[in-house]
Amino acid sequence: MAFSIEATDPCKKADLTRLSKILRTREELDAFDVTSEGWQQALQRRYRTHKDMKGILNHVEDVDMAIYHHFDMRVTPYLAQLMDRDDPNCPIRKQYMPFQREVNVRPYEVADSLAEDHDMQDGSSVVHRYPNRALFLVTTSCGTYCRFCTRKRLVSHGESAVNKQQLERGISYLKAHSEIEDCLLSGGDPLLLNDRQLEGILSQIRAGAPHIKFLRIGSRLPAQLPTRITPELCAIIERYEVQMVNVHVNHPKEITPLFAERIKMLRKTGTMIGNQSVLLKGVNDDVATLRDLCMGLVTCGIRPYYCYSCDVAEGNHDYQLTLDRILKLYRALRGFISGPAVPTFVVDGTGGLGKMPIIPEYVRELANGEIWATNFKGKVQRMINLEARTLEQ
Ligand SMILES: *Cc1c(COP(=O)(O)O)cnc(C)c1O
Ligand code: SF4
Repeated sequence: MAFSIEATDPCKKADLTRLSKILRTREELDAFDVTSEGWQQALQRRYRTHKDMKGILNHVEDVDMAIYHHFDMRVTPYLAQLMDRDDPNCPIRKQYMPFQREVNVRPYEVADSLAEDHDMQDGSSVVHRYPNRALFLVTTSCGTYCRFCTRKRLVSHGESAVNKQQLERGISYLKAHSEIEDCLLSGGDPLLLNDRQLEGILSQIRAGAPHIKFLRIGSRLPAQLPTRITPELCAIIERYEVQMVNVHVNHPKEITPLFAERIKMLRKTGTMIGNQSVLLKGVNDDVATLRDLCMGLVTCGIRPYYCYSCDVAEGNHDYQLTLDRILKLYRALRGFISGPAVPTFVVDGTGGLGKMPIIPEYVRELANGEIWATNFKGKVQRMINLEARTLEQ
């Protein structure tokens, strides 16, 4: 089957009609049933500035409109329904509503802290950093923009959209590099592409790069607009044997009945489903929330994969946690909730260092060669069976 690669701005047409489609009053929003129309129609109803939301939320912060030159706002009506009407500290509002402090960039905050631009290959949008795997950015648009996004330098800006030539060069790069066994489609949000565009990319990778054994998609759309998961999308995931879909859920409030239902549909394709969360101050940096999140995910068949410390990006400081806090949160999970519900905590090093696990030291060797272990309850015990002197006897 031959598919051509199309330009990736699925929202352009929608803009013409948006004015009549935004649900401006609480009554209209409450009456809205997201399953009554297609996902692309629902995208046309997205709120685009904080002012658009004043009819449905109270205590909306009056930010300077100039914020949107740096980073756009979009909020799906589905997420608007999940937002607490009165509480500006609602975990959904904290993730998606712009706030004035985000323009106070700290000196250490840089646009491309992970140095991804540096690792982009041959004028494409493929970031090839690790030996056997590559990250392929296939669009710079998302369903809803997260204020803490690590890629806000690219994401949401129409002028930096991934163009057809970059996509074609990306496919060529993947084809030419047989050491790449694992390709991860990311963005932006790959599921914001329509089915034809997505199928175009997947089919070319599958046809031209047989060395890629493991194909993954990272998307936050299932949590921002679960109706994106359709039988048609599932058929594509199955046809091109996408082995893993990583979603991005940060708070148990995002695990709604509709989300769980569509995840169940997606699981029937046989793909693995993982979750990548970001630890965010004021959103999920407390033990009860994280336990509920991780258990809620495994309950719907999603394996918590990574839990990132919030990346350095311009204006992200308000979300960041100290290492000490992150280690305490990890200790409160391991042993206390089901093993498969415990994600790997990671920090993605600035300057392109790559991902590194943040794990408390449960078992350690002292200078004298003794090995001591601390269990999840804090009980300390020597582990003679692991010591060199025991084993060398
Ligand atoms: C995260 C990432 C990957 C995938 O890493 P895994 O640890 O295999 O999930 C690949 N390339 C880049 C550039 C990444 O940032
Ligand atoms: S969905 Fe992902 S890429 Fe898009 S704004 Fe959120 S964090 Fe950034």
